[in-house]
Amino acid sequence: MRILPTDGHVHSEWSWDAPLGAMEQTCARAVELGLPAIAFTEHTDFTTWAVLNRDIHQDPVRKPHASPEGLMVPPRLDVEGYRECLERCREKYPSLRIIHGVELGESHWVREQAATLLAEGGFERVLGSLHCLPTGPDRVLAEVSGVYLDRPADQVVRDYLAEITRMIEGSDLFGVLAHIDYPTRAWPLGTFDPGQFEEEFRHALRALAAGGRALEVNTRNQPFPEIVRWFRDEGGQIVTFGSDAHTPDGITKGFREAVDMVEAHGFRPGRHPYDRWTR
Ligand SMILES: [Zn+2]
Ligand SMILES: [Zn+2]
Repeated sequence: MRILPTDGHVHSEWSWDAPLGAMEQTCARAVELGLPAIAFTEHTDFTTWAVLNRDIHQDPVRKPHASPEGLMVPPRLDVEGYRECLERCREKYPSLRIIHGVELGESHWVREQAATLLAEGGFERVLGSLHCLPTGPDRVLAEVSGVYLDRPADQVVRDYLAEITRMIEGSDLFGVLAHIDYPTRAWPLGTFDPGQFEEEFRHALRALAAGGRALEVNTRNQPFPEIVRWFRDEGGQIVTFGSDAHTPDGITKGFREAVDMVEAHGFRPGRHPYDRWTR
């Protein structure tokens, strides 16, 4: 059986939205699966945002971090606690390469704070993520899943991809773009067809490729082959895989299919099993 690539996007108990995450058990599971490497990419968010499609005070994950006005105020990442836990896991699982990373939300809007955190944390892998979009006349940020209540669904995707391009061009703090298909997770109109947004996807992917940065193939939902093809067409050179697991049993979910798909588009593993894939 072939060796799976690094799971490059995993959350543990150090992420505010992963109360059932557990770094030690996740590492044990990775060893069991014969995984060469795993990257913990804990959430670091400096924005505050609204949740429009459900009551934040009733949501068990968000409730502890909700302001009385109903805004999500994410807690700061405990950089020290996280690092110590990771070092303990490195000692306990020496055969597993454990990568120290973060998932940085909307870094083009919070450049200074994000840069300070990265300098302090010394992380090996930084994912860039966009989870929110401005809404309404006051441009209050809201989680993308709720933005579908605010405007037509196709407009949400177009706005999202335009903002992705601004994030890429406005921040060099991250090396990997996480889940470019994020708005498809809550797509309200049946089966999502990326072909409807080919120009917008290509525009964002071109910006990513031009900066020599990596595209993450996120397997939380089945990835779209078109997006990998467009990235390659636009000059993209580096691909990573990420399960976006928030519990130990979720790591590498969907990897076998994704690996075949990415390989069919001309990307190959590096010399070491933990290297990123290139073409
Ligand atoms: Zn994310
Ligand atoms: Zn994530």
